[in-house]
Amino acid sequence: MKSTKKGNLNKVQTEFRYLRDNKEMIDSHVSLKEKNMNNPFKSSKIWMGRFRRKIFYHPKAKSLSKESIQLGILHEAGHLANIQNYHKWLIITAIPVAFFMAIIYCTANFLNLEDQVKIGLFYLIMSIFGFIPIISFSWHLFYEYLQKDEIKADEFAAQKFKDKLIDNHNQKMSEIFSNLFKELEEISRNNQGYLQGKIKTLKRKLFPDFHPDRDTRVDLIKEKFD
Ligand SMILES: [Zn+2]
Repeated sequence: MKSTKKGNLNKVQTEFRYLRDNKEMIDSHVSLKEKNMNNPFKSSKIWMGRFRRKIFYHPKAKSLSKESIQLGILHEAGHLANIQNYHKWLIITAIPVAFFMAIIYCTANFLNLEDQVKIGLFYLIMSIFGFIPIISFSWHLFYEYLQKDEIKADEFAAQKFKDKLIDNHNQKMSEIFSNLFKELEEISRNNQGYLQGKIKTLKRKLFPDFHPDRDTRVDLIKEKFD
């Protein structure tokens, strides 16, 4: 039997199909894939997002409640639907690349490097030691915009959920979100991921998580949707 048959779908796949095909809340080109990663849910990156519109879920997301799965999927669908998101990611990559090229060009000129081997070596060293700090700098520079994207994706999910999914109209959107974050914390506590100890700390310093904290996100939903 094919895995596309309804009987074989897991909980996340079932909710995804329901949201995309029955409720038409997600673009029909978006697909879903299971992936071992650090996040419970994720969507395709900017440079892939245009061509391969995918939402990824961690195997552990299957243990979330139906509402949390729906909100998690809709949040990612919000990232994919929001075209501004792509522009920001372009800025984050294009500006550092241009900046970086300019720096190595000027430095190579200044050092008056003519020997091909020397130039090659210079580029290699600069690539290893220069590129990550520059991307990190740009990441910090655009941190606020990235944070706003998360808020927009939350709002996209909340709006869709409120319009088409809410069963009990006495239930508040902020409560549903708060429950989602509680459940997500539960599964990520047991999920150490592949980056350990110091590397993880360094990665967080260079590229800090741009998701606003749980209370801020719940408060923003409360303000707009309760
Ligand atoms: Zn997000």
